[in-house]
Amino acid sequence: MTSSLAIRADALSKRYGGTTAVDGLDLAVPAGSVYGFLGPNGAGKTTTVRMLATLLRPTSGTATVAGAPIDDRDAVRERIGYLPETPPLHEELTAREQLAYAAGLRDLPADDAARRADAFLDRFDLADAADRRIGTYSKGMRRKAGIAQALLHDPAVALLDEPTAGLDPRAARTVRETVAGLAGETTVLLSTHALPVVDELADAVGVLSDGRLVAEGSPERLKRRAAAGDEPTLEDAFLEATGAEPDPGAD
Ligand code: ATP
Repeated sequence: MTSSLAIRADALSKRYGGTTAVDGLDLAVPAGSVYGFLGPNGAGKTTTVRMLATLLRPTSGTATVAGAPIDDRDAVRERIGYLPETPPLHEELTAREQLAYAAGLRDLPADDAARRADAFLDRFDLADAADRRIGTYSKGMRRKAGIAQALLHDPAVALLDEPTAGLDPRAARTVRETVAGLAGETTVLLSTHALPVVDELADAVGVLSDGRLVAEGSPERLKRRAAAGDEPTLEDAFLEATGAEPDPGAD
């Protein structure tokens, strides 16, 4: 049923000159689920997520996100939260100001937004730094502020590119718990190389390689299908799905 899909892509493709970054991708992500989006470096994950976030126009194909076609940028942007690889933050603002600014852009009621911002700052252990300029933040602190910004307006769909990258173990756990807490309400596309995170959180996993989906299913199903060992891991499944033939010309 199309209406229960929060993300749907049909033959979505992106070419950069001679490079095909995303090659006829079909996606069907049910509302309220967590979808782990995996793939080797250069597989086309970021390109896909940027198209879904309406920041990049597909060369061909279509997609809808939270019920809106991606060529309706305003409608999609209203309904999504996006955490890119580098969180879009203003160095000269404090985290509290940044979140208030983001809330203002989305016309959120100020007191409600301030309450939600405080809750995120607390949860991500940023309360003590909340009134310091983001320019003084570490990489992990920036990522946490970026996640708070992506989720502040309680989006229908959260597109999260590497949300746990560079986070210390406690912060990474907090982010995992946060994503787990979204399940059922918010649809999460989790693009990451952190396979244990996907194993723990994802209802379904898609493995992209050279712009194409080479494996898809629940983490359990992908592990069962992997030939390696008695207790195959998601890593085994990933390596199998993305294993390239050795290049005889390589030395
Ligand atoms: P990673 O895991 O390393 O972040 P990824 O799966 O997110 O990789 P993409 O960043 O989507 O991969 O890149 C997919 C392909 O598209 C790569 O071959 C990359 O070189 C190419 N590509 C991405 N952006 C551009 C661009 N602006 N111009 C030309 N080629 C690009």
